[in-house]
Amino acid sequence: MPDRTPPPLLKTLATPMIGADDKERLPPWEQLTELYRIDPHIIAAAALLAAAILPYLEGNRGKVMAVAVVLAVQLLIRLIADTMFRRRVPDAAFKPWLFGFILVSLLSGIAWGLSLAILYLGSGPQAQVVVLAVGCGIVQSCAARAYMAPASTALVILIMIGIVNVAALSEGDWLMIPICLAYVAFQASYMTRLVELEQARQAAEQKTGKLVIELAESNEKLRQANEQLVRHASTDGLTGLANRRSFDNRLQAEVEEAHSLGSLSLLLLDVDHFKRFNDTYGHLAGDECLRRVASMLRDECAVHSHYPARYGGEEFAVILPKADHKEAEAFATGLLSKVSMLDLSGIAEPSDPLTISIGLACLEDGDDGAHALISRADQGLYAAKQAGRNCARTVERMQDVT
Ligand code: GH3
Ligand code: MG
Ligand code: MG
Repeated sequence: MPDRTPPPLLKTLATPMIGADDKERLPPWEQLTELYRIDPHIIAAAALLAAAILPYLEGNRGKVMAVAVVLAVQLLIRLIADTMFRRRVPDAAFKPWLFGFILVSLLSGIAWGLSLAILYLGSGPQAQVVVLAVGCGIVQSCAARAYMAPASTALVILIMIGIVNVAALSEGDWLMIPICLAYVAFQASYMTRLVELEQARQAAEQKTGKLVIELAESNEKLRQANEQLVRHASTDGLTGLANRRSFDNRLQAEVEEAHSLGSLSLLLLDVDHFKRFNDTYGHLAGDECLRRVASMLRDECAVHSHYPARYGGEEFAVILPKADHKEAEAFATGLLSKVSMLDLSGIAEPSDPLTISIGLACLEDGDDGAHALISRADQGLYAAKQAGRNCARTVERMQDVT
């Protein structure tokens, strides 16, 4: 359950800027930029000059001139502050600019209070009512921005009301005291509520930000898990080569491409007398042997951009895209010699070299596709075994072994 206890009034109003103490967030420069803007001060000055019309008509021209001078000085100070703030260095420290803002705010409060007091003093009741109404408007517009910087806003309001009160008391208007006290209390509760809402908004924004980050993180984990799943579904667990399913898909795609683009060859490899190897050295050694054969195949294929796969058991397959008979036979011969030199240290006796047999087939005009290609390579493999193993045999047409 979120803590709904309202913040204490004084603590709230004494906060220099809402959100500025939050280490996880950037300092609220946006709020400060808004607070430094001169526009509300131009409007306030225009309102005060409008309130000066009645005293002017009553013949108090000197007072109007004095107010105009006070407001001009205030606007000039705000203009300089606003301009300097906009031209600050990009990595400026936040605190000095915050205190600069509080200082010019207090000056504005004094200027507005003085202007109101000057216009109030010695004016007729009608003019005084207008002056107080404009004063209330300015106080209200300050309070409406209190959700950003409550402390300075509260001070500005107190200064304005205090100065106007002094003027009213000097005229003997004692009734202003309770009226102003009630007004200040009303504004304080209004500002507290605004601050409370702003704090709740910022907390919600932070929570949303955290949720978005968490969501992005779990999406990333999901993506990685999916990638791993795809890898597992297409890779052989023992050797890390493409598995039978990937091989079938790839061969189908390569055959379709070769029908329009040219030649394609396929090798089927079978480790010779592997049952005997297992029986002699054990199945774990047999597994390691298959891994080493696969590793050699991967390296050799990488050089030529061929595609190796584990076909099943101790059988492997290699797709040779764009390779004709000659290239495929040269590659197969190379593999025979690589296997005979395979390093089997730690798993088998050096006097007991490993050999493989290879069946080879190339896609020919009129071939009906992947199935025919596998079938002919298989025939070649059978022929190689028949020929005494450790050799490669090509089947160009069915039953036509070379
Ligand atoms: P040939 O020269 O005629 O191919 O004889 P072979 O003994 O290699 O052929 P056979 O089909 O009789 O035996 C294949 C052996 O391969 C039997 C099987 O236990 C072994 N084998 C298949 N897959 C694995 C594997 O993943 N690990 C191990 N260690 N052995 C395997
Ligand atoms: Mg076999
Ligand atoms: Mg075998």
